[in-house]
Amino acid sequence: MTDEPCQCPDCQRFYREHDRLIREFPTLKQQQELNWASIQSFRTLCGKVTDELQKRLSEKNSNDELNTEDIQKFTNSEIEEAITDLENINAYLYSIEALMERIFDVKVSDKIEKKFKEIAGEIAPDPLNIDRLILNRLFHQTPDFPDKKN
Ligand SMILES: [Zn+2]
Repeated sequence: MTDEPCQCPDCQRFYREHDRLIREFPTLKQQQELNWASIQSFRTLCGKVTDELQKRLSEKNSNDELNTEDIQKFTNSEIEEAITDLENINAYLYSIEALMERIFDVKVSDKIEKKFKEIAGEIAPDPLNIDRLILNRLFHQTPDFPDKKN
């Protein structure tokens, strides 16, 4: 048994995305804006799809003979189930948004924002950063790990 983090493709994708979001949004303000935009876009998209499905459901029920092929692709229960699921998601997102508004109230000084950037650089360094590439090369050329040529 090891404490090594899971390395399956899904987890690796998550670690990469997690680090990228720290690297590209390294201040409190940027994280606030990013997460706000992320919640809002999630809600907007789910809301629009829910509206669309509700419209189709009512069209389907009101004029069966005029059904287009597109509407017929879904069964009523399929649409109803999806609407319920999406409405649940939207309710959760709404709660998250209410909490996130409180997070948004907080502003920190430039000094603290600098600390955020510093820590972000430490925990999620740019894998393609030239300093890091040089550092990696140096690590692989230490006397303990001699170059294959020698
Ligand atoms: Zn995993």
